[in-house]
Amino acid sequence: MTLDSLLVETLAHAARAPFYRQLWRDRWRSITGVEQLARLPSIDKPTASKHQAALIVGVRPAGVGVVSSGTTRGEQYTDPLNVPRTAAELSAAASSASVPLDERGWTLSVVSVHHGLPKRLEGKNEIMLPWLHDANALAMLETTLRAPQPDGRRVTAMVMGSGPIKVFTSYLAERRVDPKTFGIELIGTFSYRLSSTWTAIVEERFGAKVFDNYSLSEFPTPFTTCEACGWLHAGQPPMVVELLSLDSDTPAKRGAGRLVFTSLVPWVTTMPLIRYETGDIAIAGPVCKATGQSGLKVLGRRRHGLELDGAFVLNAVDVRDVLERFTETEKTLHPMTRLGHVKSIDVGPPRWAIAEEDGRAVLRFEVRFDPDVYRRRAAELEAEVARQVCELDPLTRRFAGRNRSRLRVHAVRSQSLKALSERYD
Ligand SMILES: [Zn+2]
Repeated sequence: MTLDSLLVETLAHAARAPFYRQLWRDRWRSITGVEQLARLPSIDKPTASKHQAALIVGVRPAGVGVVSSGTTRGEQYTDPLNVPRTAAELSAAASSASVPLDERGWTLSVVSVHHGLPKRLEGKNEIMLPWLHDANALAMLETTLRAPQPDGRRVTAMVMGSGPIKVFTSYLAERRVDPKTFGIELIGTFSYRLSSTWTAIVEERFGAKVFDNYSLSEFPTPFTTCEACGWLHAGQPPMVVELLSLDSDTPAKRGAGRLVFTSLVPWVTTMPLIRYETGDIAIAGPVCKATGQSGLKVLGRRRHGLELDGAFVLNAVDVRDVLERFTETEKTLHPMTRLGHVKSIDVGPPRWAIAEEDGRAVLRFEVRFDPDVYRRRAAELEAEVARQVCELDPLTRRFAGRNRSRLRVHAVRSQSLKALSERYD
């Protein structure tokens, strides 16, 4: 089946849901492929959440609703989006899912239970363990990894949230346990992107290769880093991925765009999501020699970035990446540090805020020293952070202009900002 024919079949199916029937009328009938998908409107998460009962095709299956993550305390509250999955959908997704990272041993999947129970069954060579803010989570991980399983095979691959891997790495270091002795070769991360600094730390400590994953709880398809091009490619099961302009529903020409996804049958049937706004911004990479597709780099949540002159001029992913390179930048204490399970004050997200002031982009970040006393060091840090953010993001560089005159960076005192509420689970 081609993507076009899967889409046609999906639209005929989705048109049976009361929400789409009313929104589309008969418009879906003229669509014969992905090229014409733009004839249908996109929907965002608050809309989908509000109308979730009407998004279901047929009768809602009992007892399979799963709460999607992403509602952070302190941010505007939207109803959680429950994406029900039937047993048939789960097995369709599982049969097309990418094979466990390493067939020779076990793959340990660490599930963040506060995001809801896993929506799929344990794979053939897979061990699932829960992550929670408790000493038991750390102890269970360590005992599972330190010795072979009863069948004689060890865990050789691990998939874990980027927050938990930072906490676990620090925990092992504090206990003088050498993670290289575990024999893990591949580590996949999910949730927010693991910064370049932490990727290097984890790779060095575990002696393993780290792969970044991007996925949404609403969709069964993960994106993983490509070894050939270094960008993210969509995995299995297939879906339609669109990158739309910041201000219209036409394809993004160059620069950053909104990521919009469409699920496909037979992998998603109960609650089809058609042209669903992820809320994330991404840029498209060059066409990859290995896969023939152009990859993506996800720049984080649209609401966490700064838009000026119609461009996405500062993004949360690159700002965080740069701030984590410096030991002097302040971090929000991770709950596992606050509770005393680990001692590290560096496993939480850096504390920063961005704003537009007089047509300039302004980035403020907290430091662990008094920037008014140690002025020279504060100035050095400010210049370094500005230089490195521009180096990572061509959009920031282009906006900042010559001498970076349109980008202002300020080091400020600890706890003086209303820091962006970022996930640290
Ligand atoms: Zn590639």
